[in-house]
Amino acid sequence: MPNSSTNAPRVEIVGSGVVGLTCALTFAERGCPVTLVAGSAGPDASCCSWWAGGMLAPGCEMESAEPIIGVLGAESMAFWDQLDPKPVKNGTLVVAAARDTPDLKRFGRVTEGWEPADSARIAALEPDLAERFATGLFFPEESHFDPREVLPALVERLKSLGVSFRFEEALSDSHLEAEPDADWRLDCRGLAARDKLPDLRGVKGEMLLLKSDEVSLSRPIRLLHPRIPLYIVPRSGGLFMVGATMIESEERERPTVRSVLELLSAAYALHPAFGEAEIVEIGVDARPAFPDNLPRIRRDGRTLRVNGMYRHGYLAAPAVARRAADYLLEGKVPEDIGTRGDYE
Ligand SMILES: Cc1cc2nc3c(=O)[nH]c(=O)nc-3n(C[C@H](O)[C@H](O)[C@H](O)COP(=O)(O)OP(=O)(O)OC[C@H]3O[C@@H](n4cnc5c(N)ncnc54)[C@H](O)[C@@H]3O)c2cc1C
Repeated sequence: MPNSSTNAPRVEIVGSGVVGLTCALTFAERGCPVTLVAGSAGPDASCCSWWAGGMLAPGCEMESAEPIIGVLGAESMAFWDQLDPKPVKNGTLVVAAARDTPDLKRFGRVTEGWEPADSARIAALEPDLAERFATGLFFPEESHFDPREVLPALVERLKSLGVSFRFEEALSDSHLEAEPDADWRLDCRGLAARDKLPDLRGVKGEMLLLKSDEVSLSRPIRLLHPRIPLYIVPRSGGLFMVGATMIESEERERPTVRSVLELLSAAYALHPAFGEAEIVEIGVDARPAFPDNLPRIRRDGRTLRVNGMYRHGYLAAPAVARRAADYLLEGKVPEDIGTRGDYE
């Protein structure tokens, strides 16, 4: 099925991470002929997006994020709801050991959208945690999904709309320097776009995939800890994604002993049965982030650079993609992302 309408501009999108794919779908649904070019063989382990937890947690993220992230997150939900698989909407449970109760209170003070969870509520929500945690916060509106199911689903959806793909084609600097063949280019290269975005930096994140038949969780669990805050996201087949470190570093490889030990011991503290779990995978990448950890859309001639999703790629990319399309197709300068100078 063709994806174009007569006067819509042709758009070349560079990158098949969550930003490139959400931009591609947004522009294709608005009638633009879209070509997506990516150095990777598809959305795969070479993209930061592959390693994410897949939490859509605007409430919990308010612990450290600006309110605009909550706005973008709330707006993005309709985008994810139209896809198959849909996000699992059964909330997030935040717990802390008894000695860390002050941290739980602090978390509650700086976030919204939670309900108190006493031991009976925790037992009802997550029976496997009942004996270990007596108080928590339950964020009923939050959701999660598995990025490794969602990214291929996005590709399939794009194919059905007639988007053309050129995978395994890393564009050279000279190609990226030249004006695009299409009317517009969207540079969605994540951290690789530092050559054009000198204030972009990496925030290294290490994660684990554990397999256990002895632990059963229904939703993401955040374990507060003064030194090693951790989350665990259940996936199908007895898998658990354990994440994630936050280190000021552009390294996209080389998980360290310290990080892996910390993640493992936090998982063990959440439930001792993780001591017998199989370590299926140790992953690492660096989140692309601007100094204020907020996303940007920056215009450079006929190129728009969409970047800086930090730890909110899934949470917020659809709403950022919408703003990019509103700008290119309707001339609306987004008032809530970046500055006017970004668009000149
Ligand atoms: C451990 C971890 C956990 C996370 N958990 C969450 C979470 O639970 N929820 C959430 O919302 N976010 C989470 N994030 C953040 C999220 O993963 C990032 O914000 C997001 O992946 C950034 O996506 P991106 O598309 O900008 O970059 P990427 O996914 O890195 O995609 C970049 C693309 O550009 C392509 N590319 C690069 N250079 C070229 C070139 N020269 N030519 C052609 N193509 C090129 C690459 O091949 C790739 O396809 C997490 C991140 C980490 C590391």
